[in-house]
Amino acid sequence: ASPNDERYMEVQSTVLHDGVGGMLGCLVVLHDVTARTLAQAVLKESEEALVRDIRERERLERENERLLEDARRRAAEADTLRQAAAAVAASLQLDTAIDRILDEVKRVVPYDAGAVWLVSGDLLVALGMRGPGIERLSRSRAERERDGGWHDWLRGGADAVTVAASLLEGPTREVVERRRPVLIGELGPQTALIPGSPTKGMSSWLGVPLVVHDRLIGLMELANIQAARFGTDEAQMAEAFADQVAVALENARLFEETQRLAVTDPLTAVHNRRYFFDQGEKEFARARRYPPKDLSAIMLDIDHFKLINDRFGHATGDVVLKEIARLCRDELRTVDIFARMGGEEFAALLPETDLSGAFLTAERLRARIESLEAEGIPHTTVSIGIAEATPECAGVGMLLTWCDRALYGAKEQGRNRVNAFTLRDNVQPDFV
Ligand code: GH3
Ligand code: MG
Ligand code: MG
Repeated sequence: ASPNDERYMEVQSTVLHDGVGGMLGCLVVLHDVTARTLAQAVLKESEEALVRDIRERERLERENERLLEDARRRAAEADTLRQAAAAVAASLQLDTAIDRILDEVKRVVPYDAGAVWLVSGDLLVALGMRGPGIERLSRSRAERERDGGWHDWLRGGADAVTVAASLLEGPTREVVERRRPVLIGELGPQTALIPGSPTKGMSSWLGVPLVVHDRLIGLMELANIQAARFGTDEAQMAEAFADQVAVALENARLFEETQRLAVTDPLTAVHNRRYFFDQGEKEFARARRYPPKDLSAIMLDIDHFKLINDRFGHATGDVVLKEIARLCRDELRTVDIFARMGGEEFAALLPETDLSGAFLTAERLRARIESLEAEGIPHTTVSIGIAEATPECAGVGMLLTWCDRALYGAKEQGRNRVNAFTLRDNVQPDFV
């Protein structure tokens, strides 16, 4: 060590006594403790560094945990979304899909009330709802089967909550007009919501638009009793779900359209043969249930249609077919099942109608077609065979065969007439 270096010294002094009360002097011993002191300082410093290290490590651990938690949450969200998408893909029935989505979205956006609304013309229709006291808003399967597709249901209104879309106000209007999510931390008592919305009386509110192919088709709204429960994260998740809802709507629409096309005659837009037999069998079974109800059918065939085609051309023939189909559909009751059975033949099944009722209906159709004078339509007549489902009748197929037999008779007797099948006709040897 150089002479200029600082040294740490320990001083130890001892008083020396002479043994009789006097003091001889003082013994002073100096210890050089520089090395020890320096070593202690180094130790202290490294101890402090260690504590800092541990603290940093703890902080990192907490941060890691948070990141991990975040990752887990995101994975759960992604999983929820995937499940919702699968539910959508699996359920072609719209209301089931919407129900599933409302259930799934709850796992990532904690809401107490929510609804999916569809714009239908000028109306806003609730397709699904959740909220205090609301179990489920959707048609039962039976209702669906009775009413047909959801588009019919929308048109009919049924028990759906409907609102005029043009009357929208407040945040809902903003969602619809600006086509973007709207977040409200705390709904005021003055905030205008959709009348009938289950989100009424809640605090946090979140609305997202439903868009398919750049077309706004509706909106989804979610609400929480507590204020400020939703942030941009929730808005993003809700938007992702809204996309799934939009897909569900589009899928269901396409599916129902496909189903509709499968039972529709493309030329005349009335039902086809397949629909006639599908629904006809059900109607037949219903008529046979106790107490038995009347059931009749009519089969209509255009007279000399070949000549109409030959004389006026196939296009004119098509117009005649369309006009006759339209006239019949207009003339018959909604409960009557009417279909183009093929070529220039049409059939109708008339529930709760006996043979004389069927005769009146058939005669009315025949007379109206004879006097049909729409533009560009040549004079046309039809022959009609009618039959009643008496106890001997085994099914719709047999009933139609009976009508066919009567129709044959009408043609034989000179056309442009109605002929009824009677069981006497049944005795003919060629009858099966
Ligand atoms: P009848 O009075 O005995 O019933 O004579 P018809 O000429 O009506 O009977 P037929 O069964 O011999 O001819 C039916 C014609 O209907 C033949 C066919 O070309 C025509 N037809 C079938 N489907 C269509 C169609 O979709 N459009 C047009 N324009 N004609 C059709
Ligand atoms: Mg024919
Ligand atoms: Mg014919």
